[in-house]
Amino acid sequence: MINESMAAIGRSRSCIRELFEYGNQQAAKVGRENVYDFSLGNPSIPAPPEVDEAIISAVRDLDSISVHGYTSAAGNPALREMVTADLNKRYGTNLTSFNIFFTCGAAPSIVSVVKALAVDGAEIVVQAPFFPEYRVYVEMNGPKLVIVPPHYPDFQINLAGMEAALNAHTQAVIINSPNNPTGVIYTKETLQALAALLKRKEEEYGHPIYIISDEPYRELVYDNAEVPFVPSVYDDTIVCYSFSKALSVPGERIGYALVADTCTDELAVMDAIVGAARAIGHVCAPSLQQRVVGLCAGVRPDMKAYDHNRMRLYNALTSYGYECVKPEGAFYLFVKAPGGDAKVFSDKAKERNLLIVPGKDFGCPDYFRISTCVAPEMIEKALPHFEELIREYK
Ligand code: PLP
Repeated sequence: MINESMAAIGRSRSCIRELFEYGNQQAAKVGRENVYDFSLGNPSIPAPPEVDEAIISAVRDLDSISVHGYTSAAGNPALREMVTADLNKRYGTNLTSFNIFFTCGAAPSIVSVVKALAVDGAEIVVQAPFFPEYRVYVEMNGPKLVIVPPHYPDFQINLAGMEAALNAHTQAVIINSPNNPTGVIYTKETLQALAALLKRKEEEYGHPIYIISDEPYRELVYDNAEVPFVPSVYDDTIVCYSFSKALSVPGERIGYALVADTCTDELAVMDAIVGAARAIGHVCAPSLQQRVVGLCAGVRPDMKAYDHNRMRLYNALTSYGYECVKPEGAFYLFVKAPGGDAKVFSDKAKERNLLIVPGKDFGCPDYFRISTCVAPEMIEKALPHFEELIREYK
């Protein structure tokens, strides 16, 4: 016998992966150059040279055991310290290696945190639009996922919706800024208002309500936009970070869970995260990658290519009549579907081998997502299709 609910998850693909695989099949039939694939958020710029240098110096200068051996479960303390030193320098915090647990990217970081908070009857709140995998990370680990409607048209935090969603069972609220799929950065004022609301609710219910701040796009910002550091705004914050996008290393699987030193029951929360990670067999993130991110803690991505794509797509699409919030970070555009049903619209686009992700799984069925981390030549070839498609609705 097998666990049927796990098998069902294993059999089903995310809508993003589904499209990506379809794109590969089409590319085999009609040629890669005739498929305009805007589905996946795979960084399209190379890793910064510091990443390669850190890898080369590790294998050249260190003995094989220190490069490839196990580290302690939470990761090498000196390398964790390098990461927190960078955060302290940027945000004026007092974090130490004890606040950080290295993980294989943001995904297992979020899963470990969810499991750590999964008491009986637990609820975790998230606002639409949200990264579709949250549903799996939360629901397959016990808690109920409670979805708050979007805040149109700016996609900032829907405070009234949040307030309505919170109750005595709420263990945490997941936020993600810069946001996938909208590219919106939550302002300091919005975060302060959320913090005040959560603090009031913590007092009312007599237990902590944690913010799980999922931050794979923290460093991917345009026009020098500021991303407020959530632990500086709200005490009970747990950050789930990934280096996948910031250092263009998504396949290397490295990130961390960070329990703010201001968190209620800070040490117990970290113990529960470490225990949850252990329970899924997830300890000691890749040693070589721990070294890379320790040495590259201060390295930021070169945003020029992403910015070019963002502006080219944003300007062109809005000039054709599409409605879309201008992204301040990440590498996506979230666009209102002409006709109102993004599945219908994306199916029409698919007939032209134009692959865009309908927003239903993000919690916004009337929007679609375009990844802008693509080759600029593909954008130029795809734009006439976008223009022709919207003309059919005029
Ligand atoms: N959270 C969000 C919002 C993402 O967009 C992604 C990946 O695209 C993840 C988490 C997972 O990231 P990782 O590759 O670090 O597991």
